[in-house]
Amino acid sequence: MLRAYIGLGSNLEDPLNQVRTALAELKTLPKSHLLSHSRLYRSAPQGPVDQADYINAVACLETALDAHTLLDELQALENKHARVRLQHWGPRSLDLDLLLYGTQTIDTERLQVPHPWLSRRCFVLYPLAEIAADLMLPSGSSIASLLPLCDATGL
Ligand code: ATP
Ligand code: MG
Ligand code: MG
Repeated sequence: MLRAYIGLGSNLEDPLNQVRTALAELKTLPKSHLLSHSRLYRSAPQGPVDQADYINAVACLETALDAHTLLDELQALENKHARVRLQHWGPRSLDLDLLLYGTQTIDTERLQVPHPWLSRRCFVLYPLAEIAADLMLPSGSSIASLLPLCDATGL
């Protein structure tokens, strides 16, 4: 068993409800146990697309699933929430990103862990710090030490 951190985000079709439901669904994943989750955050959209605000959260799972099987499970949940990929970084009913998987670094075609944008996204770092401030990234930085480097305007 190891600890995996999942980033949740939604800005379509009742985002609060999407994230709350997804947190409940994470409790039902096989060979896994939901240990904790952050509060829910509202964040202004980032990137090129004009779209509604997001609701974000981070959850910590204890899991015996291997990382790619966990990604399969997360994508199955996204599909259940009728996620349609229209546009990269565009609006979505539910995004579930695998932020961290134990202390592992993974770089395959389907999966990069730690999540490549983790250190630069306040909507990930703040909720993650709420449940795991002292957690060390494979780079050697703690989550808490990254907070002052990211602009939390709009969070
Ligand atoms: P971003 O990755 O910048 O947050 P996104 O979440 O909108 O963008 P998606 O459309 O959800 O991107 O995912 C695109 C692909 O990213 C997925 O098909 C998946 O294979 C791949 N991917 C790579 N690393 C990860 C990861 N750590 N967590 C989730 N998906 C990942
Ligand atoms: Mg994402
Ligand atoms: Mg994603």
